[in-house]
Amino acid sequence: MTTPFSQPAKKALGQHFLHERGIIDKMLLAIDPKPGDRFVEIGPGQGALTFPLLARHGALTAIEYDRDLLVPLTEAAKAHGELTLVHSDVMDVDFTALAAGTPFRLVGNLPYNLSSPILFHALDHAAVIRDMHFMLQKEVVDRMAAAPGSKVYGRLSVMLQAYCVVTSLFKVPPGAFRPPPKVDSAVVRLVPRPPEQVGIVDPRHFADVVRAAFGQRRKTLRNALSNICDAERISAAGIDPQSRAEQLAVSEFVRLANETAGS
Ligand code: SAM
Repeated sequence: MTTPFSQPAKKALGQHFLHERGIIDKMLLAIDPKPGDRFVEIGPGQGALTFPLLARHGALTAIEYDRDLLVPLTEAAKAHGELTLVHSDVMDVDFTALAAGTPFRLVGNLPYNLSSPILFHALDHAAVIRDMHFMLQKEVVDRMAAAPGSKVYGRLSVMLQAYCVVTSLFKVPPGAFRPPPKVDSAVVRLVPRPPEQVGIVDPRHFADVVRAAFGQRRKTLRNALSNICDAERISAAGIDPQSRAEQLAVSEFVRLANETAGS
C-alpha cells in the first residue's frame, strides 16, 4: 500500500505513530463521537486517530507542529472528511479564541515530552473544553488519577482533579506504535467540572499552596507552607498542620487554599 507519509519519525517532536487498529478502535469507542460534537486534535501525525474520527464524524480541526506532515495530511484527509489543519505549536494556540464561543472536545496522542505543559495549558482554557481524551505515558496517567496516600499522588493529581474528573481508561503497550516508545502508555479522560463545583476562590493562590505543599512533600504542612500561612490558619481550615501533603484529599486542598487566600 502506498502512503504519502514518507519521512522518518522525528524524535524531537515525540513522534510515535499509533498503528494498532484495536487500540485506535478502543480510543474511538471511549471518545464516542456524537452528531453536533466539535473536535480538536493535538498532533495528528500521520492521521491514525484523525482519519477514523473524520470518517465517523465528518469534520475536525487538528493542530500539528511538524511542517513536513501538513501536505500529506491534507492530501490523505480528503478521502475521509473535512480537515482544518492549524500549523502551530499547540502551546501557542489560544483555545478560547479557537472555540469562538462553541466549546469543543479535545483529543490527542500527545508528544510525551510536552504532556504536563499541554495539560496545564488545557486547564487554563477549561471553560471552552467539554472533555479531553489523551494518550500519554502510563506513568503520567497514574500520577494524574492517583488518590491520596498513593506514592504517585502529587501536584499533577491535585491540580487536575480539582478542575476535572480524571479517569484512567486503558493501558497501551509500546508495540502499538511505530517506532515503539520505551515506556507503556495509557488513555485518560478528563471532564472539566463546572466552576460552581470547583469552588476555588483564588486559582493562583490555590496553585501556590499545592506547589509549596508538594515542593517539600516529606515536611509537615506547617513547615512546607511556612511562607504562605501560619499553623493557626491551617487549623482554621480544619486540617492538622502536622499532616503531610500526600495525605490531603483534593477537597481539603481547596478548603486550605480558600481559608488562606489573602493571608
Ligand atoms: N496522533 C498521531 C498518532 O497517534 O499516530 C501522532 C502522535 S505523536 C505521539 C505526537 C504528534 O504531536 C506528532 O505528530 C508531532 O509532530 C506532534 N507534535 C509534537 N510537538 C507538538 C507541538 N508542540 N504542537 C503540536 N503538535 C506537536
